[in-house]
Amino acid sequence: MAALRPLLVGILLTLGTLAAPAAQAVITYRLSFPEREHRLMDVEVTFTDVPAGPLQLRMSRTSPGRYALHEFAKNVFDVRVAAPDGASLAVTRPNPHQWDVSTHPGEVRVRYRVFGDRVDGTYLAVDTTHAHINMPAALMWARDFERRPVRIRFEPPAGSSWRVATQLMPAGDAFTFSAPNLQYLMDSPTELSAFTLRTFTVNDEGRAPVFRVAVHHAGSDADVDALTRGVEAIVREARHVFREYPAFENNTYTFIADYLPWADGDGMEHRNSTILTSSRSIRDSRLGLLDTIAHEFFHAWNVERIRPASLEPFDLEEANMSDELWFGEGFTNYYGPLVMRRAGLYSDADFAREMGTAIDTVLASPGRQFRSPVEMSQLAPFRDAAAAIDPTNFDNTFISYYTWGEAIALGLDLALRERSDGRVTLDDFMRAMWMRFGTSAAKAAGLVEATYTISDLKATLATVAGDPAFADDFFARYIEGREVVDYARLLSRAGMTLRRAAPGRAFAGAFPLQDAAGGARVADLVPSGSPAYVAGLERGDVIVSLGGARVSRADDVDRAITARKPGDTLPIVFERRGQPVTATLRLVEDPRVELVLSEQVGQAVSSAQREFREAWLSSAAR
Ligand SMILES: [Zn+2]
Repeated sequence: MAALRPLLVGILLTLGTLAAPAAQAVITYRLSFPEREHRLMDVEVTFTDVPAGPLQLRMSRTSPGRYALHEFAKNVFDVRVAAPDGASLAVTRPNPHQWDVSTHPGEVRVRYRVFGDRVDGTYLAVDTTHAHINMPAALMWARDFERRPVRIRFEPPAGSSWRVATQLMPAGDAFTFSAPNLQYLMDSPTELSAFTLRTFTVNDEGRAPVFRVAVHHAGSDADVDALTRGVEAIVREARHVFREYPAFENNTYTFIADYLPWADGDGMEHRNSTILTSSRSIRDSRLGLLDTIAHEFFHAWNVERIRPASLEPFDLEEANMSDELWFGEGFTNYYGPLVMRRAGLYSDADFAREMGTAIDTVLASPGRQFRSPVEMSQLAPFRDAAAAIDPTNFDNTFISYYTWGEAIALGLDLALRERSDGRVTLDDFMRAMWMRFGTSAAKAAGLVEATYTISDLKATLATVAGDPAFADDFFARYIEGREVVDYARLLSRAGMTLRRAAPGRAFAGAFPLQDAAGGARVADLVPSGSPAYVAGLERGDVIVSLGGARVSRADDVDRAITARKPGDTLPIVFERRGQPVTATLRLVEDPRVELVLSEQVGQAVSSAQREFREAWLSSAAR
């Protein structure tokens, strides 16, 4: 045996050498704000140990969690590339996102300025009150250096009381941080401001993750305390779905909120943090803000760690298309309000109202004729905060994968509960996905080892339901197909009533009208299949007469329709690009639905219905 010893030592030494990537040269960034009143940030980045050949510097075109292209290079200017001795290095531009440095001495220093004036989860915002930095919008990086560790130093303005809120790893002092690789760096938005900070921990069977709530706003400390109480209720309740927290890197999860009058509304999930922005204040809109927080925190499991193969690793150069957003976003959109209800922040009626809105949207939207939830997910690059100036007919061909996915999750939860007499629920399915995919050891911080596909979702459902035929049928009809479950029947088990929102009311279609000279202008797409669509009306047409009566403003149309009955036909005259058109409008009953508690509409709720509702909606912390 002893003879083997030298050999073993040799092998161990070899392994030690192979593990050397940790010793790779660190990329260093320095961020400063000498012109913050002009919405500018200065960036310096140094690459050392650069191999011979061109160094390919890039600005990202996408941002983790966003699916559309954003072309962040557009706000970068005054780019200077130099050797350590200060001598300028020649740069070529192979495309709008890239700066190539062909000849260099092995170390390259880049300085540039970047403009940013939008407070949300995607862009950069710099002003005298803060620097709100989404890394892809701000930081240049280099191809083939994606695995190198990063050190980043923030230089707050002299005399400011800015501090740093981020999921980046602390590295020495309060303004210096590190990231193990490019994916983690890009996934780590950072807020510098005089924010209000609250911290709490939750015991999780031996672990005690730390939760930080950093709020930059114009309200009071008492507002932040009230918000934090809600955050803590959400954090505690969400855990019960999975029965454990993810293993947060640094054992810390950070909620970074900017509730400022000039912010845009957004919520963006990251691995150990979330960005929350709104123009609304905590005082006026606490529950609405918490609803977003519940959604984003659920993403710490679903999407950040239970991750589709289509989003791993996130592509910073091209749009990321995923077939699974009906699950990643849609099921998260179901659990947001469900966790709010279980945590006692919503009432049963609040929860029913939100579910009713999702069901109504899915039932009423013409888009269901054309695409399945999988195909809707594939449209995310065109829909996810994608600005375009050319019109689309998405109102007639698209249903949000958030909304449709939320409705699917509701239907699946109820179907599982019904068929198992309450023994199997959607929580069991989520937990099974977590155990199979979410808890896998990571290759490196910020990367997910075991990713899933749609067939994995189906196989997991088959196991949880104990019935592969059920899983095959559910996926074929409701996920790869375009059917919807029988919501009215399933919800009646919980003592909830799905009903017409306006029974007996005549209806021509849900589309906006504007007052126009001599009539009422159709201000948006006319829903495909609606009475107005069948009559040939389209966006831009001006209705001048209806039922033989002159129309002089938008209200006249509503009044004329409301006075009729479903089934009535009436002549309609409209002007299209100056030419009169005559048609016939055949009214139908308003198809829109709402979900209410049965007791709210005078129906008796049995003890079996009450029990079903309790088991579904009450806190799992009992
Ligand atoms: Zn989401």
